[in-house]
Amino acid sequence: MDVRLLEATDDPERVICTAARCDYSAEYVGDQPFEELMSTIEGDDLDEKKRTLIGHLLSHGHFGPFEHPQATFAVEGISRSCMAQLPRHRHVSFDVQSMRYVAFDEVDPDEVREGAMVVTPPAVTDADWIGRNQRQTDTDEATVERRREVFRESVTQSVESYQELLDLGMAPEDARFVLPIGTEVNLVFSLNARMLMHVADMRAAADSQWEIRELTESILDLAAEWCPVTFEYYDEHLKGRKNRLAP
Ligand SMILES: Cc1cc2nc3c(=O)[nH]c(=O)nc-3n(C[C@H](O)[C@H](O)[C@H](O)COP(=O)(O)OP(=O)(O)OC[C@H]3O[C@@H](n4cnc5c(N)ncnc54)[C@H](O)[C@@H]3O)c2cc1C
Repeated sequence: MDVRLLEATDDPERVICTAARCDYSAEYVGDQPFEELMSTIEGDDLDEKKRTLIGHLLSHGHFGPFEHPQATFAVEGISRSCMAQLPRHRHVSFDVQSMRYVAFDEVDPDEVREGAMVVTPPAVTDADWIGRNQRQTDTDEATVERRREVFRESVTQSVESYQELLDLGMAPEDARFVLPIGTEVNLVFSLNARMLMHVADMRAAADSQWEIRELTESILDLAAEWCPVTFEYYDEHLKGRKNRLAP
């Protein structure tokens, strides 16, 4: 998969701090220079003051200010199975590549057999991989080889059938019914910083599925560049603990 930050609120932590100062300020924050707004916050410079205030907000569960900065991500090549999990988060906005208007009629089935177009779960190639609810834990190389054959044959056959149905005049929206749930999809989604932390609480957790965990870790890496103080605090103090952002 590939994950990129397409667009995001400029200077998100200034926005977070300004919104938070609004709550406790007798003055109108729209009229006040940022330095003045932050003058009573502990810290030798503005960066330290931001760190103090953001740490205070997150440690006290004051999450509202984190709803103001917004980020838009592009994702390439996750499975339809993984994609179906994301929109369960109702405060996230999505655009998902269509299987009605995009037809996979040019894809070579031989390339599908080699791993194109359909995401390959690690259990197909890695004997040591242990998935959640797995029936058997001691897997030898012969078993993995057989898994690989079954998986590759099955997805290749699906794509061949799909293309034959297109050739027989079926619309992509109907022919797609035979495609595997592992078929790759691209999407764009937008969410605010609070929701991003909530999604990470749910989807970077150990009981989440491997693919959405990988996606979430990539999103968190990008978020740490975009909104560094917030996501550094999240990583050190909130990640992997009890979900506090939307329990
Ligand atoms: C490991 C794992 C396994 C899962 N397995 C399944 C499964 O087998 N089947 C399945 O259907 N789903 C499954 N889910 C999805 C899960 O049940 C949630 O729907 C999904 O994670 C969205 O999270 P959320 O409930 O926090 O809601 P979000 O939409 O992310 O909303 C954030 C918060 O807003 C509040 N909120 C939003 N909407 C409402 C509302 N209408 N009423 C009250 N409060 C609201 C809640 O506090 C919520 O936590 C799974 C999720 C995980 C992480």
